[in-house]
Amino acid sequence: MRENQFKIALTALFLVDASVRLYYLKGRRRFERAAVEHEKREKFFYRLVGIGIIPIFYYSLTSRIDTFHFPFPAWVRWLGAGIIFTGDLLFIWSHRALGRNWSPILEIRRGHTLVTGGPYRFIRHPMYAAIFLIGTGVSLLAANWVVSLSYMLPVIFMYLIRVSDEEEMMRGQFGDEYRDYMRKTGRLVPKLSFLRNKRKFSLNKAFKFKTMPQ
Ligand code: SAH
Repeated sequence: MRENQFKIALTALFLVDASVRLYYLKGRRRFERAAVEHEKREKFFYRLVGIGIIPIFYYSLTSRIDTFHFPFPAWVRWLGAGIIFTGDLLFIWSHRALGRNWSPILEIRRGHTLVTGGPYRFIRHPMYAAIFLIGTGVSLLAANWVVSLSYMLPVIFMYLIRVSDEEEMMRGQFGDEYRDYMRKTGRLVPKLSFLRNKRKFSLNKAFKFKTMPQ
């Protein structure tokens, strides 16, 4: 049955996401923390998001919630698989770029540095962007509103409450360096000025080249 293909694809793609998280969670214990913000709330969010992904496994491994299906054509569902795959790549790239600065809750590590490379060059929250991409892909691929709502609602809730506190924490730690970084990047979507600056930069160079005294 075709539905089984979607279930297998979802399990495989989602396991990539889960394994990346587990791998970085294991490595993280080696680094000392310097400061932590809203610890209880952060741990609560973490559990909430954890509970929110349980229906993914219910959908993938059983047929108990198949009645909550919505009728997407097959191409939309495979598009969903592609979106999860893209989200997985962004998720891995962000973890690699943050390295020892990564943490599942809001905290500053000893020797924390401000990362502005990799995906952080374009946006300030590529990991959250990846989580939203994965959620969109999961919704299209599973085509099941229980799976979709239980994944998306906690994640949206967590993002909305957490993101400004995270930026405030980073401003507190890195001051003008972070303020300057904020001017150049978007939260989830790159700022268009990034492209404009690039063009201005090369036009400037061309202009200087032409008017240089011989
Ligand atoms: N919001 C980011 C990171 C999520 S992990 C994203 O979506 O990609 C949360 C931790 O990452 C926070 O505890 C914070 O200390 C750290 N962090 C966030 N942005 C950072 C950056 N640009 N450089 C270094 N650490 C950062």
